[in-house]
Amino acid sequence: MTTLTFESLNPATGQVIGSHPKQSAQAVHEAVGRAETAAAWWDRLGHAGRRRRLLDYKAVVTRHLRELAELVHQETGKPVADASLELVLAITHLDWAARNAPKVLGRRRVSSGMLGVNLAATLEYLPLGVVGVIGPWNYPVFTPMGSIAYALAAGNAVVFKPSELTPGIGVRLAELFTESVPEHPVFQTVTGLGETGAFLARDPRVKKIAFTGSTATAKRVMAACAENLTPMVAECGGKDAFIVDADADLKAAADACLWGALSNAGQTCVGVERVYVVDAVYAPFMRELSERAASIRAGEHYGPITMPGQLDIIRRHIDDATASGKAIMGGTDSVRAPFVDPVIVEDVPEDSPSVREETFGPTITVRRTRDAQEALELANASAYGLAGTVFARDARRAMELARAMRSGMTAVNSVISFAGVPALPFGGVGDSGFGRIHGADGLREFTRPKAISRQR
Ligand code: NAD
Repeated sequence: MTTLTFESLNPATGQVIGSHPKQSAQAVHEAVGRAETAAAWWDRLGHAGRRRRLLDYKAVVTRHLRELAELVHQETGKPVADASLELVLAITHLDWAARNAPKVLGRRRVSSGMLGVNLAATLEYLPLGVVGVIGPWNYPVFTPMGSIAYALAAGNAVVFKPSELTPGIGVRLAELFTESVPEHPVFQTVTGLGETGAFLARDPRVKKIAFTGSTATAKRVMAACAENLTPMVAECGGKDAFIVDADADLKAAADACLWGALSNAGQTCVGVERVYVVDAVYAPFMRELSERAASIRAGEHYGPITMPGQLDIIRRHIDDATASGKAIMGGTDSVRAPFVDPVIVEDVPEDSPSVREETFGPTITVRRTRDAQEALELANASAYGLAGTVFARDARRAMELARAMRSGMTAVNSVISFAGVPALPFGGVGDSGFGRIHGADGLREFTRPKAISRQR
């Protein structure tokens, strides 16, 4: 007999944290029905009313920050400080979405043009109705909030399916929302495995799916959405490149590279996985990198691998990289399940699985390149295109490289910094997905433009 519940575990200790229902097709159907009614009410509340409620919710989340960070720590294993940072970033997005929705989406007059002198033309971005959000476990607050806050601020009701690894935090975020909006279930959570997410994607009353997760799952969700022509945002994986040019500040580059590769144990969609360093500074950069990495230990500086199955992929990639390349630090014995110490391998052939596929662990491959142009070409020769990094002191050259990088986001002389700027759209190209969350594009993603031309 199939069970009706599933347990969430602390990945560091294996301890059971909670038990949650595997919500059925019927339960999802009912949640979407309630969301439809709630969406109509939330739309009528108007921009000013929603802004007030969302800023109130922001205050509630901020008040509960310690409790929420502890729950994220329990469910993912990441240090409490990292969990708190994730929450602070999510709160920043909540604030930005609430404050900017009226200006970005509200009705405005547009020029009626030469032929329409007697026309009053207006443009307004209207809510879609019910938005389904399907989230991952690696940043179980920051990532889904990048869709939830923007969808709510745009006037939609949200039904959120958190990852089965982090259901508790998803449930708690929606529970806290009722403190600010007690009238209607504008933000609900449904828990379960992938099947529960599929029920949501297949419901014709859901007007958009915001999915974050692996590329393989995105394809399945897209097939489910296709049944009703439901549009989706797909925020998928990455294999982000880090380019070090000849004039780069090597100390700053080494710090950024390690932080981008190792924070959250490398379980970051926009984490550093491939490093390309120009020949002229290869040796000194590697010295800086190795010196810093030498003292970093899993379990001390970062947490465990959250999803047990991911350990097999990481192990396979370490085996692959060390068999064909030269290990600078760590190797197969760096895996001490559920922890993985830093692994740095150089000269791994570009067509190896460890260079082509997302690893999602604290491992990097490093390659020496003739110049920045070659580094850029190798960086761009990936099926993924989520984000990347360029380190170069010449600002013009750095911006040129950043623009030419085939990715949705590029950080220059910093790493992953774009994620902390709410006005910047977040999303990728190629196998990293499509559509954008965050910023004005993220708000518009959850609306339909309404054009009206009125004869005066
Ligand atoms: P996953 O694809 O295994 O699961 C993501 C979500 O989809 C979960 O909630 C899961 O239950 C649900 N799901 C599974 N099968 C489904 C189906 N058939 N229909 C509907 N929903 C289904 O991903 P994960 O392991 O939770 O997350 C890790 C992946 O997410 C990595 O590839 C990472 O790069 C990516 N990620 C991307 C971003 C981004 O913004 N681009 C952010 C964080 C994580």
